[in-house]
Amino acid sequence: MTKKLPETVRVMGFTVAVSSPNEVLDAGSSFGSSNWDKQTMRIATDQTLERQQNSLIHELLHTASSSVLELSEQLTERQVKGVGVVLHQIFRDNPAVLEFLR
Ligand SMILES: [Zn+2]
Repeated sequence: MTKKLPETVRVMGFTVAVSSPNEVLDAGSSFGSSNWDKQTMRIATDQTLERQQNSLIHELLHTASSSVLELSEQLTERQVKGVGVVLHQIFRDNPAVLEFLR
């Protein structure tokens, strides 16, 4: 089954556009990137579905952090990586959690 990334996500009342560029993403962020000021997110699709899911959650965490915290208080790359991996596992293994939130 082919799953498609959402075209937009809503964060703090704003619509963030999600794109899947074919070109290589910036060095150092090869799986995805996000820009809260521009309300954009890019997720590379030339990776496995699990990797795309993880990248989406990862970029959502960066976006969430940027949307509510001052620059000096934002989550670090290490924190985003750690929490992102765990959230991905929790959401994948517990669909009832997401269903409960709907
Ligand atoms: Zn990151």
